Amino acid sequence: MQFIETRGNDGIKPQSVTFSQAILSPSASFGGLYVPTALPSLDKAFLESHLSSHYKVLALDFLQKFGIDIDKEVIQAALDRYDAFDDASNPVPLAKIEEDCFVSELYHGPTRAFKDMALQPFGYILSKLAQQKNENYLIMAATSGDTGPATLETFKNQDNIKVACLYPDGGTSDVQRLQMVTEDGKNLKVIGVKGNFDDTQNTLKALLASEDFKKELQDRGIKLSAANSVNFGRIIFQIIYHIHSYLELVRKGEIQMGEKIYLVVPSGNFGNALGAYYAKKAGLPIEKILISSNINNILTDWITKGEYDLTTRTLIQTESPAMDILKSSNVERIMFDKFGPVRTKELMEALERDGKYQLTDAELEMLRKDFDASFSDDVTCETVIGKYAKKGYIMDPHTATCIRAYEKLRDKPLKTVIYSTAEWTKFSPTVAKSLGKSVEGDIEALQWVSEHAHVRIPEMIHALFAKPIVHQVVVEKDSIKGEMLDFL
Ligand SMILES: *Cc1c(COP(=O)(O)O)cnc(C)c1O
Repeated sequence: MQFIETRGNDGIKPQSVTFSQAILSPSASFGGLYVPTALPSLDKAFLESHLSSHYKVLALDFLQKFGIDIDKEVIQAALDRYDAFDDASNPVPLAKIEEDCFVSELYHGPTRAFKDMALQPFGYILSKLAQQKNENYLIMAATSGDTGPATLETFKNQDNIKVACLYPDGGTSDVQRLQMVTEDGKNLKVIGVKGNFDDTQNTLKALLASEDFKKELQDRGIKLSAANSVNFGRIIFQIIYHIHSYLELVRKGEIQMGEKIYLVVPSGNFGNALGAYYAKKAGLPIEKILISSNINNILTDWITKGEYDLTTRTLIQTESPAMDILKSSNVERIMFDKFGPVRTKELMEALERDGKYQLTDAELEMLRKDFDASFSDDVTCETVIGKYAKKGYIMDPHTATCIRAYEKLRDKPLKTVIYSTAEWTKFSPTVAKSLGKSVEGDIEALQWVSEHAHVRIPEMIHALFAKPIVHQVVVEKDSIKGEMLDFL
């Protein structure tokens, strides 16, 4: 399988690259992204033959069908990382919360957010590729709270990879911050940045674009890669759990094979939703993908009005911080798929130049064939969390945004899977508040919710509060380069 570029080719980069090339060097011509030239078919025969497959078998067969240029043994070892999830026999359990609504729990990995689903195997593969090529890579990540811990965790003490992780100071929960600042590993650096997530991401982009930083890396023999969802190595693993959720519904007798379902995806950078889109395009029977946001609802405008406008918005901090994003990177891959490289380049350049663009009516219609969207504010989410807690199900604030989409956006009475992207333990003060108790810190909130709602706190969350803090640095934006050079 070859990969091409969303904004077309500049005549300098190769016309197409392999999977391993696309994941080692994810930056494409004109600032675009890599996309596959085709998708493997998820036809009835493939689905039927995996009805009783373990998650890892489904994943291996899918990846091989994709034709990625990674040795089978390496893929297998990468997928073995799912053995460390809560239930090795099923890393992604499906819970029923309504007669026709199910929660696919993507957070049973080491850092309690869905980022582990992709980053765990991806980290293994990237490090193995670097070793095989005898090259050294730097991964720099800007995180709003979940990518950081998951990136550090997957690359910790892996050879030939160094990781530097930037987080907005004050923009993450205590648990998320502790997951990063207590993570020791000789190849890891964590830096708090004064500003919000968009500031942090912009600082990182500026650093990565700066010629003298590139030269410093070159002098040290270090290449740059990326572990955010611009890297297709993340996206490929985010197609698989959508297939798994569908098969779970069939296995449980909730649907017949071939019956359509709705998916509800709480979205930020749109990687999870893109995985769902590729699964649908490849043949998984999905009626529509319903995108949910918080009040940073730029994706709602994009999907309901065809408008993407940064000029009228400032980022608002919410109780679902992993979705506090305005520049959503994977929207570009959808546009490439629907409108082609010329139009995608035009639209993305308009966004960079004018801060906005508007799709035509025909383009909007194409988008709405696969997607619809809505959003929830914090108060609505708290109400949702409280309502489901009474019924015995505890969900985190990101997951809670999905309920409105489930209630309002479906035109047909089809079974629906909503994605739970984080465990409640990462956002316990909000969950406690939703259950009627106002508490300040995470420790107190964790204990109160655990006792009050009779839910377990996993050991790795408990352990965080006793671990020594190994990364103390919080700096202004312009001091980051110096910190980085010290680290390298
Ligand atoms: C990353 C994240 C999201 C957003 O996922 P995207 O793939 O970036 O759209 C939603 N919820 C949680 C908890 C996350 O960590």
